Amino acid sequence: MQTLRVPADREGIIKAVRVLAQGGLVAFPTETVYGLGANALDSQAVLSIFRAKGRPADNPLIAHVSGIAQAREYGRWGPLAQDLAQAFWPGPLTLIVERLDSMPSQVSAGLPTLALRLPGHEAARALITACGFPLAAPSANRSGRPSPTTAQHVLDDLEGLIPLVLDGGPSQVGLESTVVDVTGGHPRILRPGAVTPEMIAMAVGECQVADAVMRQLAPQEAAPSPGMRHRHYAPRARMTLVEGPPEAARERLLRLAQGRDDTWVLALEGLLPRTPGLQLRSLGRDAREAAHRLFHLLREADQQGVRQIYAQTLPRDGLGLAVMNRLARAANFNTIQAGETPDEEPMERKD
Ligand code: AMP
Ligand code: MG
Repeated sequence: MQTLRVPADREGIIKAVRVLAQGGLVAFPTETVYGLGANALDSQAVLSIFRAKGRPADNPLIAHVSGIAQAREYGRWGPLAQDLAQAFWPGPLTLIVERLDSMPSQVSAGLPTLALRLPGHEAARALITACGFPLAAPSANRSGRPSPTTAQHVLDDLEGLIPLVLDGGPSQVGLESTVVDVTGGHPRILRPGAVTPEMIAMAVGECQVADAVMRQLAPQEAAPSPGMRHRHYAPRARMTLVEGPPEAARERLLRLAQGRDDTWVLALEGLLPRTPGLQLRSLGRDAREAAHRLFHLLREADQQGVRQIYAQTLPRDGLGLAVMNRLARAANFNTIQAGETPDEEPMERKD
């Protein structure tokens, strides 16, 4: 199959609607990352998303809707969902509600719940509205690879496997949406994103974060969200986080990476000097810029055959929590403490 890449304009959207209405797959831009969409009401089309991505069958998709009215047709809509949707839709917020029978169970991998989102990206919204049906869409990467934040990333993973990519330029946020479970009547974050716990608490007075967000699940432990169980965001390089006060982290990172061509260091501006012999890749000035760049950097590291990546840790407030969640998962929770007795070689990552 040849994959066509067209601008996400009126003409491109008309093409995309035609493909989607016939049960085909279309990758499209959103403000978080690129999504791989299918008609959510067509079970066969939905199943072909899992095939194209190589996605485990138990990992549910997000149904992208054209508005609150459409969301209510497919999910049990309580006052908390309403308040959060009013505060943050359109935008990078996914709500987990009870699924109604009008939504095929394949979309949520057989779960009784359903993930719903109204994206903020204008082309994405125009596409969903023009379709008239909701779009089931996970991120448009091969399973286990970092999510795509450009049309080129999508092609790198799915060229030849899908008929069409709408190119809307780089994704503004760069990390996947915040996933919030509202089925319990209290908001509980299952995946942090650009809508932060602080923002949710401001809007509805409270917000929990599932503690599994920042740690590895035990083998027998129940996952609050199936996505937590799967390996995610993995670059091919071995990746290690270096945690600790800036002074100690700086010293440790330099010691680990200086003079090694196949080793990259990801750090915010100002932590490390730009010196010859140090493969420093900037995460930008703050968590927002780090979110925007992270997946691109991980993919670039793969392309260049980097063998080891060290990354500094970020404060876990605001968007920092989302960046740290992705970094920790990319590193398979491999962390060393700067400032403690050096254990030079971190544990070999087991894949
Ligand atoms: P992706 O769009 O590729 O980031 O994948 C969607 C993610 O949303 C999944 O990996 C899950 O973590 C989460 N998700 C989707 N549906 C549900 C659900 N019903 N319950 C909990 N988490 C969900
Ligand atoms: Mg994904």
